[in-house]
Amino acid sequence: MNSDLPPRRQFASDNYAGICPEAFAAMAEANRGHEVSYGDDTWTEKASNLIREIFETHCEVFFVFNGTAANSLSLASLCQSYHSTLCHELAHVEAAECGAPEFFANGAKLLLLPGDHGKIDPGAIERAVHRRTDIHYPKPRVLSLTQATELGTVYSLDEVRALSEAARRCDMRVHMDGARFANAVAALGVAPREMTWQAGVDVLCFGGSKNGIALGEAVVFFNRELAREFDYRCKQGGQLASKMRFLSAPWVGMLQDGAWLRYAAHGNTMARKLEAAIGRLPGVEIAHPVQTNVVFARLTDAVVQGMHQRGWKFYNHVGAEGEARLMCSWDTTAGDVEAFAADLGELAGKA
Ligand SMILES: *Cc1c(COP(=O)(O)O)cnc(C)c1O
Repeated sequence: MNSDLPPRRQFASDNYAGICPEAFAAMAEANRGHEVSYGDDTWTEKASNLIREIFETHCEVFFVFNGTAANSLSLASLCQSYHSTLCHELAHVEAAECGAPEFFANGAKLLLLPGDHGKIDPGAIERAVHRRTDIHYPKPRVLSLTQATELGTVYSLDEVRALSEAARRCDMRVHMDGARFANAVAALGVAPREMTWQAGVDVLCFGGSKNGIALGEAVVFFNRELAREFDYRCKQGGQLASKMRFLSAPWVGMLQDGAWLRYAAHGNTMARKLEAAIGRLPGVEIAHPVQTNVVFARLTDAVVQGMHQRGWKFYNHVGAEGEARLMCSWDTTAGDVEAFAADLGELAGKA
């Protein structure tokens, strides 16, 4: 083995991937000379303006280090500590943020809703809200949707609209966890505005890391009232970058020529290719509709072990038991998909 070769690309997560050239070039450009700190720099202004252009509205934009912070701090701005946020039972805010949303909102509770393939069942919202209206229950105030979902499915425009209308009827605000927002936009081929503020979304956590940036997410408030003093919340939460330009410049690289959507579409295409390559193998079953950049496949334990022994990394804890999550990235190649499928084919055939 040639040790000069970079490590193999994996299907474990889109955050295994590196930085895409557009984001890297913008970082290098931002590294020329001195700039004003704490977000009062030209890169941050430019990146915020590009986000306003893409969403075709005057939204408030904040750049933070990661998705847990983006979700937790934005949810904290939407509710008081005695409120609750309704989310899907597999939602990242519930399952993968170590209680940060409750912590940053001083205890505001998450209430879990069911729904197939990672999508909230619309009827569940009113059922959850009307189940209890007494003072002993944490009052539902926010609906949190993940788009694309943790299982890679997407809510259609009509579904987002219907869910946010249900939320409004119950006097609730709407938060969108868009760690993979780009993949959802690319999959649906809609304008970003249609899927967010025009569909009733108050705040979007717009994902950068999984789209090809080194690190960082943008918190986008369409309901600008709710952004009041959010800068203080970021600072107190340890999320105000002193060299902010290195969080914001990559966004300029991603957004100015549409790289964010090209890469998302590429990831989505690779997942469809992976589905086609492994979906008919004996002993392999596709567990959820493949709509963005991920394939969930039911595999036997022996096959999972065999794949791990061959050096393939992937997670098995995101969906239901026995579901392997195979995530494609901005830099996944057709060759990667073929190599993975060939190994899986050999192991599944033997089982
Ligand atoms: C990755 C991810 C996040 C962000 O996670 P961090 O590790 O905190 O950056 C948020 N929501 C979803 C659905 C994710 O997949």
